Amino acid sequence: MKNVVIFGAPGSGKGTQSENIIAKYNFKHFSTGDILRKQIAEGTELGKIAKSFIDEGKLVTDELIINMLDKELESAKGANGVIFDGFPRTYAQAEALKVMLNKRGTDVAVMLNIQVDEPELVNRLLERGKVSGRSDDNMETITKRIKTYNEQTTPVIDFYKKEGTCVDIKGVGSIDDIFASISKAIDSAKEL
Ligand code: ATP
Ligand code: MG
Repeated sequence: MKNVVIFGAPGSGKGTQSENIIAKYNFKHFSTGDILRKQIAEGTELGKIAKSFIDEGKLVTDELIINMLDKELESAKGANGVIFDGFPRTYAQAEALKVMLNKRGTDVAVMLNIQVDEPELVNRLLERGKVSGRSDDNMETITKRIKTYNEQTTPVIDFYKKEGTCVDIKGVGSIDDIFASISKAIDSAKEL
């Protein structure tokens, strides 16, 4: 089993490249952002709480996210691999993911650190905002999300550097070229 963490700032292309990974490797995909948006659309209690954080460009609390993912992971049994998209987003989440996977006899095989400069991120998110209908794809929230990423999420890179599984991916260029780098990193990762 190959567990892949796809990591990067908001707008770095995690969702787009996850779709390419699924098509090629048939891995199971867990996007915490997508799961939360589904909860919001369904009007659940978790959705209501999550919306107030998301619209402020803040992170949903570690406890809610970790519990949510621990439950979702039950459906990953027997998968060839799993893509974690948008998770972990804090150092504590990275530690919790390791515990959750170790408990199931596995671990993260590779962490893809997709690198995109800030002006490009803002452009992409503003463009996406015109069609996505996402309440957080507007200038004010985008600025807050990038700040949250820089302050709370970048420490996750250190976690995986220490683990020895972090691979830097240049996230600017054609989608196909970026995916070629990603495929190479996944193919080189050790099966666990
Ligand atoms: P991308 O465009 O690269 O897919 P994104 O940052 O635009 O990334 P999502 O990953 O969909 O979007 O997340 C949207 C929001 O959901 C975040 O801004 C945050 O409020 C909340 N969220 C998602 N994952 C987590 C998490 N692991 N921990 C805390 N909050 C989260
Ligand atoms: Mg996404």
